[in-house]
Amino acid sequence: MRPPIRRPLVIGNWKMHTTARTAKHLAREILAHVPARLDREVAIAPPFTALAAVGPLLDGSPVRLAAQDLFWEDEGPFTGEISGPMLKETGVEYVLLGHSERRIYLGESDLIVSRKVQAAMRAGLLPVVCVGEDQVERDAGRAQQVVREQLLKSLEGLPDAEVDRLCIAYEPVWAIGTGRSASAADATEMHALIRLEIEARFGADRSERVRILYGGSVTERNIDALMACAEVDGVLVGGASLRALEFARIAGFGAPGRVDS
Ligand code: PEP
Repeated sequence: MRPPIRRPLVIGNWKMHTTARTAKHLAREILAHVPARLDREVAIAPPFTALAAVGPLLDGSPVRLAAQDLFWEDEGPFTGEISGPMLKETGVEYVLLGHSERRIYLGESDLIVSRKVQAAMRAGLLPVVCVGEDQVERDAGRAQQVVREQLLKSLEGLPDAEVDRLCIAYEPVWAIGTGRSASAADATEMHALIRLEIEARFGADRSERVRILYGGSVTERNIDALMACAEVDGVLVGGASLRALEFARIAGFGAPGRVDS
């Protein structure tokens, strides 16, 4: 049973899709389908260039604004980067950090992720730290070791008092964008491991408050089974979050027909 302090969370990661104009259209479509009252938190993460356009549309709705990354310094000569205070001013509440696409294509290391976690905390944002093994690591029986290491290194230097605001997303790389989600058994096992590691590092009381999301080919067909797994406190959704009705159904944790439109 999930303790009430861990309110379920569903985040849509739009990745490098949408312009400001098409993002507004998609956000409006999602808002038209999401029930006005939800017993969970829902957020969408458009690209940086669409945040300012989408943010005002969410005012007064149950949907929150998330960003896909930030830089580890608050300001300075860092061409092309976006800081935590800039995101905060734009109305962002959640920020994804260490997504595997950034680790793979931009060489983001655990050290970089740990600095970004601290920057997010300084700015008053809620960091969602992504961890997950790739296919080769899983086949070699190293999945748990890889996830444990990414997790602990990414959280290095995080003061105990800030752990309450942390979310972790377990996103096996082999499940992202492949249509092949983790089985309930695999998700349950890895989420339990993550919870134990956080407990060992920060203590049981603090660990209880950390939400652990699952990400990787989440759809309206597998959402209920995933949410039924122990220690799965929500989901991070990529591809399906670009389809308004499907994302609304996922956010409502439900099969077609359970969404008030
Ligand atoms: C993601 O990019 O975080 C993700 C989970 O993607 P998808 O749902 O498309 O697998």
